[in-house]
Amino acid sequence: MGNTDAQPLQGMSDISGPEVLLWQWMESRAREVFRLYGFEEVRTPLLERTEVFCRALGEGTDVVQKEMYAFQDRGGRNVALRPEGTAGVIRHWCSAGNPPDARLYYLGPMFRAERPQAGRKRQFHQMGVEAVGAPSPAADAECIALLVHLFQTWGLKDFDVRVHTRGTPEDQSAVREGFVASVRPQAGALCEECRRRIEVHPLRILDCKNEGCRKIAAALPPVTSYMSESSRAYLQNVLRLLDRMGVPARMDSSLIRGLDYYAHTIWEITHAGLGAQDALAGGGRYRIDMTGRMVEGVGFAVGMERVILALQSAGTVPAHGDARCRVWLVSLGNAAVEANLSLLQHIRRMGVPCGMDLSGRSMKAQMRAADRSGAPLVVIRGDDELARGEVAVKHMRESREERISESEFRSRMAPSPAG
Ligand code: AMP
Repeated sequence: MGNTDAQPLQGMSDISGPEVLLWQWMESRAREVFRLYGFEEVRTPLLERTEVFCRALGEGTDVVQKEMYAFQDRGGRNVALRPEGTAGVIRHWCSAGNPPDARLYYLGPMFRAERPQAGRKRQFHQMGVEAVGAPSPAADAECIALLVHLFQTWGLKDFDVRVHTRGTPEDQSAVREGFVASVRPQAGALCEECRRRIEVHPLRILDCKNEGCRKIAAALPPVTSYMSESSRAYLQNVLRLLDRMGVPARMDSSLIRGLDYYAHTIWEITHAGLGAQDALAGGGRYRIDMTGRMVEGVGFAVGMERVILALQSAGTVPAHGDARCRVWLVSLGNAAVEANLSLLQHIRRMGVPCGMDLSGRSMKAQMRAADRSGAPLVVIRGDDELARGEVAVKHMRESREERISESEFRSRMAPSPAG
């Protein structure tokens, strides 16, 4: 295998070295936050029947039309790698017999066959929650509060929480008609993609990045003006509750989000340090038709890679643990190797990360390995030390050495009674 053959596929990455520690830290902090809000983890398969996503996300959405890794398996079944988490979680909920008050969270890889660029990958990682239940502004506000709590726990600052509504499904034809009627006279000035959108997905014109389209969209009447009074009141309630909860959020009438399943509240969190792909997380209230059953709920998904990019761009990557050894053992001669193996096991059993060379390398090579390990304590023994029941302990940071009995060293490794 050449160097290039050893690379992962385009748009996919290995996550290794110190970066993995950051991922582990973020995941474990997130699990704590999810627990505070009463969410339980669910791990759904990466591969589902293609239909699960088509039905949930909508046949006409970009994700389903252009971005899904969908194929036939060897048995001729239509399957797809999950492009997002909600559809699988809702399928799971239905398969579990629709338990009431389900509050589920997930984390793991998602797959979209997009053109890779900064912040856009073909395999990326999301964590998200789904709270199944009937529409309630309080449930939506709680979900946004949880997301903001999560970002604050990770030490992220300067993110922008924008909230809007898609109205009820009953509003949607009036919204579509009103919006299309208002934008059609300006169709000639829209970009080619938006001209196509007028027929298929008119509201997506609102989040076109093209400057000309943005100007036109900003001058149109707000889409809420085509909705029922109760839909507008629902949104106002969510915003008021967020304010009561001390959650920084603002209303943004240009926010639309790409999936068909949304009804009522939608939101997105962006970060200015990210460039074109600036969305860190998105979510909303949805109604999903899963095998003939209409499921209502609210949830969000966070893009992990983008959160890490945002933390890096702000220079605020939090301290997230250290995988380095605390102790390294150096052995001179076979008898010392055996004695050190026993000591190695004792130290590890005491919960202290410890390493030693297992391939019979020279003293010099072992000392180099000890240095590379970064361990503050290096324990050296050969036949002399063994004969006296001692170990030589080098305190690397203080450039100091001492000789103590092995039993004294073993007891130093034991956790202190106070700790
Ligand atoms: P979406 O459901 O598309 O709004 O995705 C939710 C979040 O996942 C986004 O806000 C991004 O942070 C992240 N995300 C979506 N697509 C990608 C991608 N192709 N690469 C990296 N992150 C992504």
